[in-house]
Amino acid sequence: GAKAGGRNTARFFDPGMQTAADRQLALEGALRDGLAQGEFVLFCQPQFDSAGGLVGAEVLVRWRRADGELVGPDAFIGLAEAAGLIAPLGRHVLEQSCGALARWRADATLGALKLAVNVSVHQLRSAEFPDQVARILADTGAPPRRLCLELTESVFAEDAAAIIGRMHALRRHGVEFSLDDFGTGYSSLSYLKRFPLAALKIDRSFVHDVHLDPDAAPIVEAIIALARALKLDIVAEGVENEAQRRFLVAEGCPTLQGYLLGRPMPIEAFERRYGGAGRANH
Ligand code: C2E
Ligand code: MG
Ligand code: MG
Ligand code: MG
Repeated sequence: GAKAGGRNTARFFDPGMQTAADRQLALEGALRDGLAQGEFVLFCQPQFDSAGGLVGAEVLVRWRRADGELVGPDAFIGLAEAAGLIAPLGRHVLEQSCGALARWRADATLGALKLAVNVSVHQLRSAEFPDQVARILADTGAPPRRLCLELTESVFAEDAAAIIGRMHALRRHGVEFSLDDFGTGYSSLSYLKRFPLAALKIDRSFVHDVHLDPDAAPIVEAIIALARALKLDIVAEGVENEAQRRFLVAEGCPTLQGYLLGRPMPIEAFERRYGGAGRANH
């Protein structure tokens, strides 16, 4: 690796790494340009209650490159974080999301939905973050109570007091928080009580095996029991088939999200599909 040969040797003499670094730099530049060109677009995936009623949506960002290629977030979020571009990207996603919430106020179905927006821990590291979100809410006219910010367990590795303070500042505006991919990261149960969370999202890796692996079912049951004891809402992500759905509903999981119920789609398509007449069921 790069460290083995001293500070710079490996980096300069390993052609593979040089290429990777070049590629990274090129992608970083493309990311920066794409942001300036408005190439980052919002997709929305619907969320349903256990009876099949639409209750919300999660915003999932996509990069629509100039050549038409659609790039998923796993290919650029980490890079955006490393390149210091997650702040402007995150702001763009929040502005677009709050713009949608403001638009949806006029619609009986869409106006009742919660919109979940993924937030990087890098964004919460900034003391300005609560004011920034409050300003976006005010500027767009979005109802703050409809906005839910999804964090991952990586926030638990941060300066807890600072993060919790920022979360409370946003809670005072009405913004909610949920903990994404629960069970995959570093979780101390004491943090679940200290952080002002409204919901846990069961990671799709647990949901996936729930009807196949005898060890997966008790984990999901335990997460649901834990969330219930802490008076947290529960969202199961990655529901792909009827067996999984039936299990989760039987266990009392109130909110479901996954390909079985609805794929992520461009936000305009989401609005056409679920808005207007209020076809609230999938
Ligand atoms: P996530 O927040 O856990 O989002 C759920 C991911 O699972 C999404 O992948 C979604 O498309 C996918 N998914 C939904 N239903 C199913 C299903 O039934 N089966 C399977 N196999 N997958 C399903 P996606 O859109 O590629 O996003 C990946 C991750 O990128 C997200 O995971 C989230 O951590 C991150 N991300 C997405 N948008 C943003 C954003 O605006 N900001 C930040 N910071 N991160 C984002
Ligand atoms: Mg999420
Ligand atoms: Mg998730
Ligand atoms: Mg996930």
